[in-house]
Amino acid sequence: MREEQRQAAVFLDRDGTINEETGYMDRLEKLKLVPVAAEAIRLINASGMKAVVVTNQSGVARGLFDEAFVDAVHTRLREMLRAEGAFLDGIYFCPHHPTEGRERYLMTCDCRKPAPGLLLRAAADLHLDPDRSYMVGDTLKDIEAGARAGARGVLVRTGYGSESAADLGSGVETGRMPPGEKGQSSKVSVIFRPVHIAEDLLAAVQWILRDLRP
Ligand SMILES: [Mg+2]
Ligand SMILES: [Zn+2]
Repeated sequence: MREEQRQAAVFLDRDGTINEETGYMDRLEKLKLVPVAAEAIRLINASGMKAVVVTNQSGVARGLFDEAFVDAVHTRLREMLRAEGAFLDGIYFCPHHPTEGRERYLMTCDCRKPAPGLLLRAAADLHLDPDRSYMVGDTLKDIEAGARAGARGVLVRTGYGSESAADLGSGVETGRMPPGEKGQSSKVSVIFRPVHIAEDLLAAVQWILRDLRP
């Protein structure tokens, strides 16, 4: 693939960003869209950018539910969005946990956010250019994962977002990682700051579309 054929994406956290944060998503009945989510994803679809979900689901490692259940949640999520004319180009999840859970999931993986593995895997599969992409989420782990993949981070105030915004103290200003450092874990503790804080996913996407066309 030549460089110019790789597409920009909006990477989306799931819980607290697209659907309401309700603790572990362990029952389908708990799945409820954030009110503006479908409209926001429709805007991404219309923009020509890809809409790709990247989500930590350590409930699998913890034995709260299995991967088949996560797939069922994602089938339901796609149905709920499709009913409102919105489409997801990909969904990637991390089932692991570094210190808790069942053996095959008990590992320090490269995909549990704040690691960038889910974004990098999606970029390889879907021919995306992370350097022209954005990561939207409600926690600083989302922002860090995005930055470590090369994407610009937008924090939303839904879910845990208001607490995350409050946690942003006097950290080092890093919109994105310098070239050549992608995917490597930082030895020093750096706060990866979002380039923008938005009320919700719709406001985030509207900001991104303006950022694309200054
Ligand atoms: Mg979240
Ligand atoms: Zn993982």
